[in-house]
Amino acid sequence: QLPWADSSPVLPPVEHIDMAANATQRQNATLLMLARNTDTDSAVRSVRELEDKFNKKFNYPWVFLNEEPFSDEFKRRISNVISGQVSFGQIPHDHWYQPESIDEPKASAAREQMVKDNIIYGGSVSYRNMCRFNSGFFYRHPLLQQYKWYWRVEPDVHFHCDIDNDPFKYMEDNNKVYGFTITMYEYHATIPTLWDTAMKFTRENPSFVHPNNAMGYISDNGGESYNLCHFWSNFEIASMDFWRGEVYSKFFDYLDDTGGFYYERWGDAPVHSLGITLFADRDQIHFFDDIGYEHNPYTHCPRGDGKWQQGKCACNPDRNFDYDGYSCMKQWDRIQPNA
Ligand code: GDP
Ligand code: MN
Repeated sequence: QLPWADSSPVLPPVEHIDMAANATQRQNATLLMLARNTDTDSAVRSVRELEDKFNKKFNYPWVFLNEEPFSDEFKRRISNVISGQVSFGQIPHDHWYQPESIDEPKASAAREQMVKDNIIYGGSVSYRNMCRFNSGFFYRHPLLQQYKWYWRVEPDVHFHCDIDNDPFKYMEDNNKVYGFTITMYEYHATIPTLWDTAMKFTRENPSFVHPNNAMGYISDNGGESYNLCHFWSNFEIASMDFWRGEVYSKFFDYLDDTGGFYYERWGDAPVHSLGITLFADRDQIHFFDDIGYEHNPYTHCPRGDGKWQQGKCACNPDRNFDYDGYSCMKQWDRIQPNA
């Protein structure tokens, strides 16, 4: 019986002057972006926005990763808009490309079928490489070894409000492991066997399941089936110690051994979400209501009392995604202590 909770190459550092107070307060954290050279314009826009709204006050370092070497233009233009240190890293070959163990005819047949079925990114191998990398490899990159915390940032996202309080400090001080701003349903067709695989893993490793897990958020029937809810991983503020730990490492390897990243199209969002909700304490998952965040086509606009005013948010609160029909905020709310 599982204890389901039923209720519910590096450039030299850019010279800058630390603001003394923030420098001493800074957490062991980095801002992290995976990007291609073709993403240069949109990457620069995201970085500039997060610097304006948050990082010019805190000067956290940035790490950029790419399976190819970053172009000089990418490095020059990014370096121009940041306040702290920056590193540009190349991803080790085996952390990115489809492993030899994958049966390519089977994988390509699956891709062709997904294209016929009109599944987003269904025919893309590089998207699958990206999802697998973000699921189980990014935190192993040499440039990230020194850090505990990361904030994942993508090209072409928006930060709509001033972020005057350090979210990393919030995570550290409140013993959190994973923070999100948007939660929604996954497309079932991209993960037909993910749930059964994860449940098989929990049956084989029952002691890994956290007694205060968040099953009430990912299942509507006490763990019988997956309701497809997940945290949208293009925004994440989380602890790499959790991903690096024994439990998640074994979980990822177990998933990876099935080939589901290639025979299906498992996203890093549902994979992270299942890992966090099953194996972490649900009280260690944090919803960052006060961070106004947009990734096309959805926006989280702060809804808590006075937060929109306090953050001088530019987003339209009437278009907040939280209680859209496609949002999983209701499933999140129902496992909160005050629900
Ligand atoms: P979506 O948000 O699911 O539509 O996927 P994106 O196209 O935004 O990709 C997610 C993240 O991975 C973004 O940070 C992209 O820049 C990055 N990314 C996607 N594909 C690749 C790739 O082939 N190479 C690299 N280096 N980054 C990629
Ligand atoms: Mn994206």
